Amino acid sequence: MALIVQKFGGSSVADAEGIKRVAKRIVQTKKAGNDVVVVVSAMGDTTDDLIDLAHSVTPTPSGREMDMLLTAGERISMSLLAMAIISLGVEARSFTGSQAGLVTDAIHGNASIVDVTPKRVFKAIEEGAIAIVAGFQGFNRGTGDITTLGRGGSDTTAVALAAAMHADVCEIYTDVDGVFTADPRVVPTAHKLDFITSEEMLELASSGAKVLYIRAVEFARRHHVALHVRSSFSSKQGTIVAETRAEARRLRRAVDLNRAAPAVDPAQKEEDTVEAPVITGVATDKNEAKITVIGVPDTIGRAAQLFNLVAGEGTSIDMIVQNVSAAATGLTDISFTLPTGDGPRVVAALNRHKADLGFDSVVYDDQIAKLAIVGAGMRTHPGVSARFFSALAEQGINIEMISTSDIRISVVTRLDSLDEAVRAVHTAFGLDADGEAVVYGGTGR
Ligand code: ADP
Ligand code: ASP
Ligand code: MG
Repeated sequence: MALIVQKFGGSSVADAEGIKRVAKRIVQTKKAGNDVVVVVSAMGDTTDDLIDLAHSVTPTPSGREMDMLLTAGERISMSLLAMAIISLGVEARSFTGSQAGLVTDAIHGNASIVDVTPKRVFKAIEEGAIAIVAGFQGFNRGTGDITTLGRGGSDTTAVALAAAMHADVCEIYTDVDGVFTADPRVVPTAHKLDFITSEEMLELASSGAKVLYIRAVEFARRHHVALHVRSSFSSKQGTIVAETRAEARRLRRAVDLNRAAPAVDPAQKEEDTVEAPVITGVATDKNEAKITVIGVPDTIGRAAQLFNLVAGEGTSIDMIVQNVSAAATGLTDISFTLPTGDGPRVVAALNRHKADLGFDSVVYDDQIAKLAIVGAGMRTHPGVSARFFSALAEQGINIEMISTSDIRISVVTRLDSLDEAVRAVHTAFGLDADGEAVVYGGTGR
């Protein structure tokens, strides 16, 4: 008997039909002889709708109350899902994050899991029931308050429970067949990856591929959780996320435990021996903005002063570019990107400190986007940036900023040319599939 953790995202439980469909699938896994723990997200776009609702009441909702509000979304889906399973004649019990022992720090809206004590979940499955846990939420022992884990955080709940309960596999069910070479909503010719290393997945997730939440990938990597990303709308095998190709092969046995799905196509196994492609995937992020601070005195400690101020606003900045200072003036310009939501606050903070920082002006631009290519093959293949930049140039797309890591190259482009850019780059690296990728549900919000 295996212990399988199954996480269903909002698009899989968007309406009553979706909940009933998912319930059947869970019951199938249980009836195949497995213990099943389910993590569920809020229905459809509930979380976004609740955020909009809060902002229509006040532009600055309290963090504590926001978490109280948002966790209601997962409470609705967990109880409905338990009801649907019970109606199929199988015992099910739903638990909030705190009932399931998800202990976090006290950071409202972006809490980190510090401990998992799933006593009641263990008890439920020992008694033969299916345990349903609300994703994306926990509680802090010090304050006794409810917290949320950041947008997309149900993935983290699932991985954390899988790690704490030593589950054989953690299945992430979503509205596409797995992790693709690009967002299939933007690049219809994207193809599904049978396997991706956790290192590459981390880079894709941090570059905007929301199919998996970055913290969940980190958690899975640290705790050696076998991750299988797949569709709740089809029975196809999805994508295995693992440290190495060899580990993925080992994990495949665990992943195959859920025999509700057909076994892996032998032709796919063949593929494992072929050399990995240079680029594994392309990711985009439309939720970034750029701030340029003009006329900063080029003196020691000025950048430190500026970025201390920015850090004080609790934002995480990404790319930074400092121009060469003009010899005549000794002044330089510093540009950086940050999440659009934090933009106005950071601009206001900079302007408040204009005198002590000694700069001329601040330019704010929220019409930019980030495009990244990711692949471990980059380490050993020269000319990757040349090919990337040429593909953009051929489309007449201007690059405004560049940053790189060991296995990633990111650029900033205009927001309105992003979709065109990502398709061109996808083609340039030979990633296009013959057919079109299927997107089963969701609104892409
Ligand atoms: P869920 O509701 O299941 O959590 P999400 O909307 O969070 O689903 O994530 C799934 C979506 O992620 C897909 O519908 C797809 O549009 C998007 N996505 C972005 N990049 C990728 C990628 N590389 N592979 C697959 N999906 C991707
Ligand atoms: N419902 C939450 C969100 O929309 C958590 C999740 O779906 O993972 O961000
Ligand atoms: Mg998600």
